[in-house]
Amino acid sequence: MNVVLLGPPGAGKGTQAERVAKSCGFPHISTGDMLRDAVAKGTELGKLAKGYMEKGELVPDEVIIGIVKERLLEPDAEKGFILDGFPRTLEQAIALENELSALGRKIDFAVNIEVSDEEVVRRISGRRICRSCGRPYHVEFNPPKADGICDVCGGELYRRADDEPEAVRRRLEVYHAQTAPLVDFYGQRGLLVGVDGARPVEEVSSEIENLLNCRKE
Ligand code: ADP
Ligand code: AMP
Repeated sequence: MNVVLLGPPGAGKGTQAERVAKSCGFPHISTGDMLRDAVAKGTELGKLAKGYMEKGELVPDEVIIGIVKERLLEPDAEKGFILDGFPRTLEQAIALENELSALGRKIDFAVNIEVSDEEVVRRISGRRICRSCGRPYHVEFNPPKADGICDVCGGELYRRADDEPEAVRRRLEVYHAQTAPLVDFYGQRGLLVGVDGARPVEEVSSEIENLLNCRKE
């Protein structure tokens, strides 16, 4: 099963992708996590991406498309994947379609997690991320068991640089201008499924797992 998760920044894509990937047995592929990892390691990609990310701008299409193409060729993605944060532009969506088609594959579902801008701001302002595994938490809605420490790997939790109000405003503008049109793109192909994201994490996951016909653990 090849799945794309759509939705504004802060909709809960990373939260849902991690849970659903586990119950469905597919890898969770997050371009945001891949870029943050590259920034933390100071690689060439990280140096290039850092400035765009901090300002809430998109990293150039050709860069991100190249990374995703490589990632999709790794053995764990053969049986399926959940893409989180990609595609974000029409150019990326078309490149993904072409790449999969060349491999004799296609997207099965584009799941759009629907959340208002107001809720996005509430979620992002309390978001904390694990420095080692990237898992997202929320200080109020989804807190870790021990303050400041990841439940899964014990890593330190931190606030993303692009979760500051100015970058969040810009990310929402970029989302509405460049990424929201993908809802129509996948709608026209009959692949779109809308999910109300303004509900508890478990309810949203159950709906997606039922849609994908995956068993919970
Ligand atoms: P995205 O990957 O779409 O940017 P995240 O998964 O990082 O979004 O979620 C954004 C923030 O909202 C995080 O702090 C997360 O813990 C919290 N969150 C995610 N889903 C829900 C939900 N259904 N209800 C309340 N808070 C949520
Ligand atoms: P995310 O973790 O998905 O919120 O992504 C964080 C940031 O990484 C974005 O604001 C962009 O700067 C960059 N990024 C992640 N995915 C993409 C993508 N598909 N295209 C361009 N930039 C991306």
